[in-house]
Amino acid sequence: RFACLPHSWTLDEFDFAAQPGVDEKLVRELAALRFLDDAGNVLFVGPPGTGKTMLAVALARAAVDAGHRVYFTTAAELAKRCRKAALEGRWATAMRFYCGPRLLVIDEFAYSRTAPDPDANAALFEVINRRYLKSSTIVTSHAGVASWGDRLADPMLAAALLDRLLHRGIVVAIDGPSYRMRAHQQRSNQL
Ligand code: ADP
Ligand code: MG
Repeated sequence: RFACLPHSWTLDEFDFAAQPGVDEKLVRELAALRFLDDAGNVLFVGPPGTGKTMLAVALARAAVDAGHRVYFTTAAELAKRCRKAALEGRWATAMRFYCGPRLLVIDEFAYSRTAPDPDANAALFEVINRRYLKSSTIVTSHAGVASWGDRLADPMLAAALLDRLLHRGIVVAIDGPSYRMRAHQQRSNQL
C-alpha cells in the first residue's frame, strides 16, 4: 500500500516510561484511528530524539494494518517533489498524489532555519489546505508552533497553515529527554 514508512516501528515498542510527558492514553486512543473518521490531524512537537518520528510511524503503521492508504514523507522531500513537478508541468498531478492518502505523514516540518523558500511554503500550504476537512495529516516538528512563522519566514502563511492543522488537530507535546542521548549515556556508563 505504498506507505513508504522509514522504519517498522509499532506502538508496542515505544517505551512510555522513558517519556512520562507523553500522554499514553491519548496516544493509544490515536492508535485506534478514530481521528481518521473526522479528518483530524495530529501534531508531534518536541526536541530531537524524543520519539516524534517513531510515534508518527507507529500510527501510520496502525493505519496501514487497518487497510488505509498511507503515505510518509518529510517536509523537505515533499517540497522537492512539488518543485520538480511544477518545473515539469505536473503540479496538478503532484497535488492529487498528496491528496490521495487517507493519512499523510509530514515529518520534520520547519526543520531548519533556511533562506525563505516561497515555493516550498506554497507546496506545503497547498497540500495541507487541500487535505483540510477531507483527510488526516500527521506533522512532526522540533520547532514549537510559535516559531513556525519565523522559521518559514512567512508569519501569515504559518498562521494559515496552523489554523487548518489545529482546527481538528491534537497536539502531542513531548518535552522529555532525548532517547538517542539516553541510549548513548547507557552505553557510556557500561564502559
Ligand atoms: P525524533 O523524531 O523525535 O527526533 P525518533 O522518533 O527518531 O526521534 O527517535 C530516536 C530514536 O530513539 C529512534 O531509534 C527511536 O526508536 C528511539 N526512541 C525514541 N523514543 C523512544 C521511546 N520512548 N521508546 C523507545 N524508543 C524510543
Ligand atoms: Mg524525527
